[in-house]
Amino acid sequence: MASLSNQTTCPYCGVGCGVSATTNDQRVIAVSGDGEHPANRGRLCVKGSALHETTGPEGRLLTPRVDGQEHDWSVTLDTLATRLEAIIRQHGPGSVAMYLSGQLLTEDYYVANKLMKGFIGSAHVDTNSRLCMSSTVVGYKRAFGGDLQPCSYEDIDHAELMVLVGSNAAWNHPILYQRMVAAKAANPAVKVVLIDPRRTATADLADLHLALKPGSDALIFNAILAALAERGALDKAYVESHTEGFEAALESANTTAGNLADVARKADVPLADLEQLVEWFCTTERTLTFFSQGVNQSSSGTDKVNSIINCHLATGRLGRPGMGPFSLTGQPNAMGGREVGGLANQLAAHMDFSQAEFIDRVGRFWQAPNMAQQEGYKAIPLFEAIERGEIKAVWIMATNPLVSLPDANRVRRALEKCELVIISECMAHTDTLELADIVLPASGWSEKNGTVTNSERRISRQRGLVPPPGEAKHDWWIICELAKRLGFGQAFDYASPADIFREHARLSGFENNRSRGFDISALAELSDAGYDALKPIQWPVHKQAPEGTPRLFADGHFFTPSGKARLLPITPQAPSQQPDSEYPLLVNSGRIRDQWHTMTRTGRAARLLQHHAEPFIEIHPLDAKRFKVTHLQLAELHNELGRYLGRIRISDQQRQGEVFIPMHWTRQFTQEGCSGTLFAPMVDPLSGQPESKQGRADLRPLNMR
Ligand code: SF4
Repeated sequence: MASLSNQTTCPYCGVGCGVSATTNDQRVIAVSGDGEHPANRGRLCVKGSALHETTGPEGRLLTPRVDGQEHDWSVTLDTLATRLEAIIRQHGPGSVAMYLSGQLLTEDYYVANKLMKGFIGSAHVDTNSRLCMSSTVVGYKRAFGGDLQPCSYEDIDHAELMVLVGSNAAWNHPILYQRMVAAKAANPAVKVVLIDPRRTATADLADLHLALKPGSDALIFNAILAALAERGALDKAYVESHTEGFEAALESANTTAGNLADVARKADVPLADLEQLVEWFCTTERTLTFFSQGVNQSSSGTDKVNSIINCHLATGRLGRPGMGPFSLTGQPNAMGGREVGGLANQLAAHMDFSQAEFIDRVGRFWQAPNMAQQEGYKAIPLFEAIERGEIKAVWIMATNPLVSLPDANRVRRALEKCELVIISECMAHTDTLELADIVLPASGWSEKNGTVTNSERRISRQRGLVPPPGEAKHDWWIICELAKRLGFGQAFDYASPADIFREHARLSGFENNRSRGFDISALAELSDAGYDALKPIQWPVHKQAPEGTPRLFADGHFFTPSGKARLLPITPQAPSQQPDSEYPLLVNSGRIRDQWHTMTRTGRAARLLQHHAEPFIEIHPLDAKRFKVTHLQLAELHNELGRYLGRIRISDQQRQGEVFIPMHWTRQFTQEGCSGTLFAPMVDPLSGQPESKQGRADLRPLNMR
C-alpha cells in the first residue's frame, strides 16, 4: 500500500488520476498509478507514466527577475507592489488584470481571485480554462441553474450506450477510454457511438462513427429530440414533474431537424448511420453522452451543450447510474478553478456577478474593502483591452497565451505594448516569458501542495513531495506576499494551503449558500492532519452528504428558481469561420496523445516525442493531390492572421476539405508560427469561448526537407 506522503494527482488532464511517486531528495525518480484512487485504480497513461521524466530541476526558472535583472524575493515583490500601486492610483483598479490557468491548484486560484476581485477591486481575472470548457459552464447553468456536472466515472461501468461527441478520449482522456474499453469487453451489448469529423483513435472502439460536417452537432441532437418525441420515447412524467421549456425546445427541434433525411444531408452523414444512432438513443435507457472540446470550442458551443442536455432531460436520463450528459474537462483543475471563481464572470463558491446578493455575500465573508461590482473581461476581450492600452498591467500565471490563444500574433503585440507584464512560471523558457517585465519563479508539480478537482467533481490532493528548486515559491505564497505589501495583510495571513482550503470550504456553506449546488462545508473544519490525509471525494460534501455525492439530481431537484431543469430551444448555427476561395481549407486543431499543451514539460521527455516528433498537417489524399503536397513533405498553412509550418501526413481519416494540426508546438520548438496564429478570435457570445476547432487557411508545399 502506498503511503499518503507519496500519493498525489497527475497534472496532465482532467481525468485526475492518482499517482504514487518515489522520490530522492531533489526529484521524483519513478511513478506508478495509485491503486486506491477511484479515478484510475492504479492505471496511468503514457503521459502520466512519464511524469518523472518531465519534471525535476532541469530547465526550471530559479530566480526572480525585474527588467531582466535577478533580484531576491523581497526586492522583487516590493518593486511589483510599487509598480502595481502606481498604475492603480493613476488609472484605477480596472487597469490591472490576471490571466490564470487550469494548472493552478484550487488554493492558488482562490487567493488570486480574492486579491483581485475583493481587494484590488478588478474582476479582470480570467483563465485559460476559458478556452477549454466555459461553454459547458454556461450550458449547465442554463439547464440546471448551476455549473453542475451530474455524472461519475462509475457510470461508464453501468452504461449501455456511450455517445462521444467531439471527444477523442482515446488520446485525451486515456484512462477513461480504457474504462470504456473494459466496460464494452465485459458486456458486448454495450454500444459506443463517436460523433466527430475525424476518424480518431477513439473510433476503434465505436460501433458507429458519424463523421459529421463540422458544426452540425446541435442539428444532430435536435434530430434526436424530435425523434424521441415522434417515437414515443420521452419520459413524460419526468418532463412534467422536473423540467420546464420542453414545448419550445421540441418545436425548435422539429422545425430545424424534424426530417432525418434532411439532417443527414446537411450534416453530411449517411442516413442509415443517423437512423441507427437515433434508434439506439430512443431505445437505450442507460445512455451516457460525453462531450469535450469539439463541442465547447465553437462559436455556438453553449447551444451545442444544451442540445445534448435537452435529450437527457426529455428522457429523464440523469441522476441515475449509467446515464447523463458528461462534460470531460481538459485541464487537471479546470473544475477547481470554477469552484473558486476562476472565470471573469464568476465569484467564489459558484456565485457570480449576476446577483447583487452574491457580490454582497462574498464581499462580507472576505471583509473586502474594494469588492468588484461587475464581471470582468473574458480572455479574448481581456487581451484586446491590453492591446488598446486600457489594461496597463497583467499578471499571467502558469500559462503560455502567446501560443494557446487565437490570433496569437495579436496577443504578442498586446503584451509588447503592455506597461507591466508579470509572469509566474515554473519553466525557464516559454514564448510568453520573453515578454515579462517581472518574472516570478513558481513551484511545480511534485513541489506544490493543495487540491485539484477532476471531471467527476472529485477533489484530490496534490502533494508536495520534494522542495522547489532554487528560489521558486508556491503561487499562493507569492500572491499573499504581494497582498501584504499592498496593505491587505490581515486577509491573506495564511500559514498553509490547508488554511486557504478551510476558508474556501467555509464560504461554500456561508449563510447556507446552496444557491448553485456547490457546497463543501463539511470540509471546513478539517485539521491540518485531516487535510493532509484527505481522500479523494466528490462534491457536494455537506452535513447530509459527509462522504460526498457521486451523482447529482437523483431527487429531481435543480437549482433554478422553480427547482425544475430547463430545456432550451436551440437553433443550430454554422461555425463563424468558413473556408472561401482565398483560404479554401478548414483547419481543426487539437491535442495529440503524448503531449500536453505547449510542451513546456512533456516536450522534455524523449519517449513522448516518439509518437509524433514534429508538428504536422493531416490532410485527405484528394486534398494532398489538389494542393500538390506529398506524404512527409514540409508545407505551410497560412491566412491573413499568420502561418503554421508542419510535415504533411496524408490520411483518409480526415474529411475532404479539412486539415488537422496539433496545438502543441511553439516558436520555441520550430522558430515558426504556432497553431494559434491561424485562428481568428471568434467566440461563443454566451460563454466567450473561442472557436479553436474551425479556422481557414491556404496550403502551399515548401521545397525543404
Ligand atoms: Fe494523467 Fe490524464 Fe493520463 Fe490520467 S489520463 S495519467 S490524469 S494524463
